[in-house]
Amino acid sequence: MAVLVLNTDNTALHTVSLQHAIGMLLRKVAVIESAHPDLVFGSYPQPEVLRLVRYVKTTFLYGRAPGWTKRGVLKRDSHTCGYCGDRATTVDHILPQSKGGRNTWTNTVAACHTCNARKANRTPSEAGMPLKTKAYAPSRLQLMAA
Ligand SMILES: [Zn+2]
Repeated sequence: MAVLVLNTDNTALHTVSLQHAIGMLLRKVAVIESAHPDLVFGSYPQPEVLRLVRYVKTTFLYGRAPGWTKRGVLKRDSHTCGYCGDRATTVDHILPQSKGGRNTWTNTVAACHTCNARKANRTPSEAGMPLKTKAYAPSRLQLMAA
């Protein structure tokens, strides 16, 4: 379930997963703007819309994707394996490095050890392991909030 995140001036920024939204609440970077009246998530009402506590300048945060890092890929994908959905601790190159695949946001996804080892030096179609998520360049805000 997607949760909408608003800037302090109530402009919509993006949507995040419920799990991600709860993380933002726990770190007090956002507050609940509106919630489902009769759903709870742990001790929280289940949020529909969050509002950031501090204003973020969108020019910086959206102007250019941040530099690629393994840690950033794991954050972007919420430590979830792009192949099976388990907890991911490794980063898989969609086009393997041995075939010219680079360290870019669009060529890398979070993967669990099992899937990474099983896929090995193959593309998802060669390995018969379709990606469940889409690799994309995250905004700076997304990585900061993750
Ligand atoms: Zn996996």
